[in-house]
Amino acid sequence: MTYLLNSPDDFADEAIRGLVAAHPDLLVEVAGGVARSTQTPPGQPALVIGGGSGHYPAFAGWVGPGMGHGAPCGNIFSSPSASEVYSVVRNAENGGGVILGFGNYAGDVLHFGLAAEKLRHEGVDVRIVTVSDDVASNTPENHRDRRGVAGDLPVFKIAGAAIEAGADLDEAERLAWKANDATRSFGVAFDGCTLPGADEALFHVEKGQMGIGLGIHGEPGVRDAGIGSAADIADLLFDSLMAEEPPRGRDGYTGRVAVILNGLGTVKYEELFVVYARIAERLQDNGLTAVRPEVGEFVTSLDMAGLSLTLVFLDEELEKLWLAPVETPAYRRGTMPAVHRPARTGIWDKATVAIPEATGESRACARTIADVLETFHQVCTDNEERLGRLDAVAGDGDHGQGMTFGSRGAARAARTAADQDAGARTTLLMAGEAWADSAGGTSGALWGAALTSAGGVFSDTAGIGERDIVDAVAAGIDAVLRLGGAQPGDKTMVDAAVPFRDALTEASDTDAGPAITAAARVACEAAEKTADITARLGRARVLGEKSLGTPDPGALSFSLLMTALGEQLSR
Ligand code: ADP
Ligand code: MG
Repeated sequence: MTYLLNSPDDFADEAIRGLVAAHPDLLVEVAGGVARSTQTPPGQPALVIGGGSGHYPAFAGWVGPGMGHGAPCGNIFSSPSASEVYSVVRNAENGGGVILGFGNYAGDVLHFGLAAEKLRHEGVDVRIVTVSDDVASNTPENHRDRRGVAGDLPVFKIAGAAIEAGADLDEAERLAWKANDATRSFGVAFDGCTLPGADEALFHVEKGQMGIGLGIHGEPGVRDAGIGSAADIADLLFDSLMAEEPPRGRDGYTGRVAVILNGLGTVKYEELFVVYARIAERLQDNGLTAVRPEVGEFVTSLDMAGLSLTLVFLDEELEKLWLAPVETPAYRRGTMPAVHRPARTGIWDKATVAIPEATGESRACARTIADVLETFHQVCTDNEERLGRLDAVAGDGDHGQGMTFGSRGAARAARTAADQDAGARTTLLMAGEAWADSAGGTSGALWGAALTSAGGVFSDTAGIGERDIVDAVAAGIDAVLRLGGAQPGDKTMVDAAVPFRDALTEASDTDAGPAITAAARVACEAAEKTADITARLGRARVLGEKSLGTPDPGALSFSLLMTALGEQLSR
């Protein structure tokens, strides 16, 4: 449990404030997280790494020369929001593009992905690297679909060292993926962790048992087994990773490995060393050379009692970067070369960003956008109960509420922007951000991305033609596909959105209103038909079979909103 706190709600923020206060030479606090205290040199790629709080030193503890340029910090175990990610990137990126590095979890994928959409529209070159080292979470063939655990350390260390050595964005991205593809982790836990302020752990492992293949957010292990000796556990971890050792002598791998033995919270260093003694024996017996092994706490899970082992199968290129100097609050190695690091020239904050000048034509379109979003909010409110009921069948019942909150936030943001004389583009971008921030949930992030991408098609200095409307709607749907990764047939809003987009782009009607109305009829039929399929994605996938006979709530809300859009534009 957590002994030292003021209020559970402020715990994550206060911890960040204290971290920055303790390391003023390395860090500054920015909206949404931390950034380096120095300016990123112009043209140098930025490495922005993050995720939820509760994993220290990951991720804010790894910001500094040779590693991260900034870290958005979410609440305990929850992804930072897209606007937090965006803000940290704005404080870290300086013309060289950015790598967004995070563990492969649905919430992080959506929120970092949404921030990427917005940044790309603003001309920033964004690359996404999802760390996926946990062998317990998927098969070897699907390595990149696994979840990320302590592999965050070597992947971000290697990418950061590459950037420090002068790599451009392409090269840094290549090396980050290469490091991820060479990294494997496996862990066990003896007891679960407790959120600050809570009395009970998120899960317990029965006495005398251990959870094997645990997650780092309180996800219990994939199976339980009796606790063995330290040597037994060392063997279990080691053998699980060695099952995926690549062939020696191929692709530059010769049996040299980076080794990380990671304590998850309450396991003592001495216990870790007892385990490491056995790991060292096993490495030697297997003809492996440990390259600068690390034993300690790197990616923790609050006070979880457990540990994990990570191996990185190195080649010469990765080894050099693994060994390069680094200087961050939690991770230091060697001596950084004395290069000039320019002083920070300022801190970006949303509150200080001026609304771009817009023409009268575009401002009139912005007011129409606010009208449309107010209609969306009305439609969502009218259907809130029904959408919630549908989501409760195999999901968590919050879809109606999520859509109401999201559309309300978007409508308010759009109206405020339009009242401040923003143009169509700026208005829709702000509405998209507000939708995602107000809604939460998968559909909130996807609708936020859709609005943001649609806004990117418009301009603040020109009116909107009929064709622009169709292009914007199509761009919004493309963003949902890109970000959500769903295919038709997975039983999601995509099952309504794709037939809708196809009907719309093939429509002979040159007026957007009637064309959207006609396509929305196709979407409504497609949404009804999702009753015949079982969910394969999203929360509902776990209870996929139960969803048979019920239409997908996200597909239904999509078709309702497109119907409303067609009607309003036809008027
Ligand atoms: P959550 O699932 O996080 O509770 P909501 O309940 O608001 O979010 O939304 C659920 C809807 O989101 C589903 O009915 C489905 O249409 C949509 N959805 C879920 N995952 C995806 C995805 N990967 N791509 C597109 N839509 C998705
Ligand atoms: Mg839901």
